[in-house]
Amino acid sequence: MATNYPRFLEPLDFGFAKMRNRSLMGSMHTALEEVENGFERLAVFYAERAAGEAALIVTGGIAPNPAGRVFTGAAKMDTEEEAHEHRTLTKAVHDNGGLIAMQILHTGRYGYHRDCVGVSELQAPINFVKPKKLSEAQILQTIADYARCAALAQSAGYDGVEIMGSEGYLINQFTAARTNNREDAWGGSYENRMRFPVEVVKAVRKAVGPNFLIIYRLSLLDLVEGGSSWEEVVLLAKQIENVGASILNTGIGWHEARIPTIAMVVPRAAFSSVTGKLKKEVMLPVVASNRINTPEIAESILSKGEADIVSMARPFLADPNFVAKSRSGRAHLINTCIACNQACLDHTFSGKTTSCLVNPRAGNETNLNYNPASEKRKIAVVGAGPAGLSVATVLAERGHSVTLFDQDKQIGGQLNTARKIPSKREFDETIRYFGNMLTEHNVAVRLGRRVEAKDLIEEGFSDVILATGIRPRKLAIAGADRANVLSYLDVIREEKPVGKRVAIIGGGGIGFDTALFITDPGYKTWDKAEDFAKEWGFDLGVSARAGLSEKNTAYTASPREVTMFKRSKGKFGNTLGKTTGWIHKLTLTERAVRQVSNVTYEKIDDEGLHYTLKGEAQVLPCDTVIVCAGQEPQREIEEALRKGGVAVHLIGGAKEAGELDAKRAIAEGAELGARL
Ligand code: NAP
Ligand code: SF4
Repeated sequence: MATNYPRFLEPLDFGFAKMRNRSLMGSMHTALEEVENGFERLAVFYAERAAGEAALIVTGGIAPNPAGRVFTGAAKMDTEEEAHEHRTLTKAVHDNGGLIAMQILHTGRYGYHRDCVGVSELQAPINFVKPKKLSEAQILQTIADYARCAALAQSAGYDGVEIMGSEGYLINQFTAARTNNREDAWGGSYENRMRFPVEVVKAVRKAVGPNFLIIYRLSLLDLVEGGSSWEEVVLLAKQIENVGASILNTGIGWHEARIPTIAMVVPRAAFSSVTGKLKKEVMLPVVASNRINTPEIAESILSKGEADIVSMARPFLADPNFVAKSRSGRAHLINTCIACNQACLDHTFSGKTTSCLVNPRAGNETNLNYNPASEKRKIAVVGAGPAGLSVATVLAERGHSVTLFDQDKQIGGQLNTARKIPSKREFDETIRYFGNMLTEHNVAVRLGRRVEAKDLIEEGFSDVILATGIRPRKLAIAGADRANVLSYLDVIREEKPVGKRVAIIGGGGIGFDTALFITDPGYKTWDKAEDFAKEWGFDLGVSARAGLSEKNTAYTASPREVTMFKRSKGKFGNTLGKTTGWIHKLTLTERAVRQVSNVTYEKIDDEGLHYTLKGEAQVLPCDTVIVCAGQEPQREIEEALRKGGVAVHLIGGAKEAGELDAKRAIAEGAELGARL
């Protein structure tokens, strides 16, 4: 079939191995390596991605020795027994026509354990452990460990290895003066600092012979003080090429960098122009990475000549059939990764197994399946927000007759509010995906009218699923009904006017979203890499060391004075996502948003918001008060339905409003949809 993605779908032949298209499924730690039956689950997880035509899969990082592990008990490969376990993975991928490489990752000073080692005794700002400095003998042993690990991976049936040389892990710690203050042959001059990665690649090539892929993940922009200059990056790339690597993958930013590199605030393909600069310097195939989430973006990078291969890690969590759908003219049905990190990286960093907000089956392929229903039922779903969309599409995919109701004229529910937050436009893709899935699976959609219990009873639905969501909690103080007191829905959804001096009541996720919405300077930096770079202070032109440059303060100037309040003690933002919360907190700090905790609200009047702090009465003069004080469930028709003899199921906010987010809503919808 003719396709729209000629470059993306073009094969790449290495002689001894052939990528069937230009997609590389980037390394993601799933945490399945470390749980019971993890390898069986991981085999099915990878098999589905290979069957969906991911050309070359790179596993999560595997340490070459105990000191290189992420944490005590994390995956390593230094014995034949460990290598043997991986055979199920390599076979699963090969049986489905794919290639698989194992990533060798030595964390160095990023290891969260007592055996953590470093190039120098310099503690990472994101680690609580001070590393022990490697001796020269230990450095030579570590190089040998990389080589042994690669040989073991080869014996386990892998097609190659990826040597992780970016994101601030051990190899970066050698190359950057920031982390390397040694005075021996492994420190000092850049020639000495890059000796370690060069020796690693040399040793690995010697151990595995010529017919085995060696992917080297090169840090293009370190984005930390004391990181590598562009000239140093290019020099290293050329040396790595000379000593036998097969592919140069790219990485952007160390984990300790304070510039977002993969979150939703980052424009799509923001860094591909830098990969394009590297491509001009080397002969090896070069891989672009970071925020590539649609086949159009992939095709555009390849057709501009910025890279030979595109790496997508999270997009393959969101949709295992990303490539197959692109090839078969069904790209409109791709479930797009929205870069929220909520069920992938946030899980990884909280010790949970990885999944995906938009695709709860990710990582659960053995226990969450949408099999054909044994008995077909007539089912109504009330509410076309994330929970309702999820349950309706799964039920219909399984063969049930499904009708979806919503009083709004459009599907999406709360997603329509979320998508209006600057930098959250990716939610458009989720709405687009579900909309197309409703059509694909013949769900009858009835919008624009509130449905009553009697209508549903009369129509003879056997089951009604209430996904009717939430209503914002009202404030119970004097003056809460004044015209200048608005709910976050008034502000974000209805776009009611907001004054210049604002009080926000509530410091949860929606309080933050609202603050970001009303303080946005209007540059749409989530849309254009050049503007994003000015906002966050980095240089896509690679003229400055490590890519860092001055921030342009116009990009952080808020049009309003905003103060956020909460009743509880402690800092704001503790409930935000582990890997993205810092971005929102830093953004609001730079926009001079004040945050006051431990308050008691008293009243709102002409003077403003009155509250008590540490026993003292205070008043914040303000034009507008925005209430973001959580929500309550909305499920009025439940009782009448039950009385009418209908089986009622509650999901999402209608079931439990506390800690509701799109992740829980979509997962609950999918789980109920798989069960009925
Ligand atoms: P939330 O996180 O539970 O926060 C509700 C806020 O309202 C709290 O700060 C609470 O603070 C305050 N509050 C509760 N009852 C109150 C009352 N009676 N009077 C005054 N203040 C009250 O809920 P949310 O902000 O509505 O967010 C809903 C869900 O969406 C959460 O699970 C959230 O994580 C998720 N979400 C996340 C993001 C993100 O991570 N970027 C964005 C949007 C939504 P005090 O009790 O201290 O006053
Ligand atoms: Fe992408 Fe969010 Fe899914 Fe992670 S959880 S893969 S970021 S959509």
